[in-house]
Amino acid sequence: MTDIADPVSRLEGDDIPVSKFLDNHLLGGTMTTGTTKYEKRSPNPSGLIPKWNPDSCTQCNQCIFVCPHAAIRPYIVTKEEVMNAPYPESFETIKAMGAEFAGMKYAIRVSPLDCTGCNACVEACPEEPKVLEMQDITIAQTENAKNWDYSYDLPARGHLIDKESIRGSQFQTPLMEFSGACLGCGETPYFKLLTQLFGERMVIANATGCSTIWGGSFPSNPYTVSKETGRGPAWANSLFEDNAEYGLGMYVANGHRRARLIKLVEDYVHQQDEVDATKEMTPEKELTHLLHHWLDIREEKSDACTKLFDKMQPLFESLVKSETNGDGVTRHAHTLLERIWSEREYVFVLIETSFVAMSYSFSISHLPPELSTTACFPSSLSGLLAAMAGLTILVLVV
Ligand code: SF4
Ligand code: SF4
Repeated sequence: MTDIADPVSRLEGDDIPVSKFLDNHLLGGTMTTGTTKYEKRSPNPSGLIPKWNPDSCTQCNQCIFVCPHAAIRPYIVTKEEVMNAPYPESFETIKAMGAEFAGMKYAIRVSPLDCTGCNACVEACPEEPKVLEMQDITIAQTENAKNWDYSYDLPARGHLIDKESIRGSQFQTPLMEFSGACLGCGETPYFKLLTQLFGERMVIANATGCSTIWGGSFPSNPYTVSKETGRGPAWANSLFEDNAEYGLGMYVANGHRRARLIKLVEDYVHQQDEVDATKEMTPEKELTHLLHHWLDIREEKSDACTKLFDKMQPLFESLVKSETNGDGVTRHAHTLLERIWSEREYVFVLIETSFVAMSYSFSISHLPPELSTTACFPSSLSGLLAAMAGLTILVLVV
């Protein structure tokens, strides 16, 4: 932030020496993630932010879903966390609904420095009278800002609930936040939702359009990583109408690298099965057992591979770092492990998504109806191939 993002934001980017990019490992056009949280939009144009009146809230999370900037979030908190808040008297809560949250509290918090005052959350609230109402942003601004910062750093509790519902999805930490999209943007909530569902294993091939401007205007990057795992969406942009080829190329390349990983794992477990006949449970045996399981479930599109990887990670880390003074077989196994570890991002079933602009799909009218669906508008041979290969193409018409 200090070396690059701050000077660029002050329009002093031309003065940054190339060495600063090297020092910060920003090579080949890469950029730091999660930088939009340092941009602030206060005071917002309306001078208003939503106030939550908890008594009649049904905890449906629809207000959270529509926020274009992830500036309003639901939190599941303990009594102790409420008492430890910077301003506990302003940290309103109600009993959290659902057996999964037994004994815990539900709170909605709004960031006064990131809310644009668009009113979308109030509009989305299905209750009458509304549970949210806009109020002057200056009322209790310090308390709200400090309580927001505190909540932002609390442990994520989304794993306690099934995320495949509007309510459940909104307890998942968004891995796209505080984008510079326009007030009330109808596009960003869907991208935010995708990151809540798949963000830790998402690869985005972004065509040029609105989603590039709010998604990657250097050095502002709304895509971020999970605090718990350090994983988040990988995002890249191509210009204009080559997006089908661009996304398809990424998809095919990742498929090849995954096939290579599968072969390495097969070789490793085969070798371990042959050599390790002892009954004693060793880290190698434990890892081999987990890798066998991974080979069985590796194509599951759920989070099964992610959860399995979390179990394998400490074993990998200790075995890859360990000394290898053994025989040739042991050294070969260690080399295989190192290669598997270096390809670990392909353990997951990557969710590969092309975010495309309308220009991409202009030629839809030239396609026969059987080749177009509401979800996918292939506009070229590559687009069609991409669709047939299973690449998800998201077209938003606003
Ligand atoms: S007013 Fe708009 S930006 Fe602010 S919290 Fe509500 S939806 Fe989000
Ligand atoms: S939309 Fe209304 S009822 Fe639903 S969680 Fe938000 S404030 Fe509560």
